[in-house]
Amino acid sequence: MIRSIFKRKGLSCDDVMEVLQSYLDGETDAATARGVAAHLDDCVDCDRESTVFKNIKVSLASNAAPVDPDIMASIRAFSDRITSGEIE
Ligand SMILES: [Zn+2]
Repeated sequence: MIRSIFKRKGLSCDDVMEVLQSYLDGETDAATARGVAAHLDDCVDCDRESTVFKNIKVSLASNAAPVDPDIMASIRAFSDRITSGEIE
């Protein structure tokens, strides 16, 4: 039996991007946090993006070191892909 590796139950990528920062800050409610965690398990794109955000938080926390331009470029590219509808 073939199972889609892109099983998308619950939150969409857009939903996750909207709450990702709050989620990483621990500011979402438990149901949302579960939904985001489940989505990140299933979605390589959002999982990668959450790693980028985590890295930014770490770099901000460590003496406001400048954010790596590569990371910023990655964020911009990702937002562009969402905006252009490439990611649902
Ligand atoms: Zn996603």
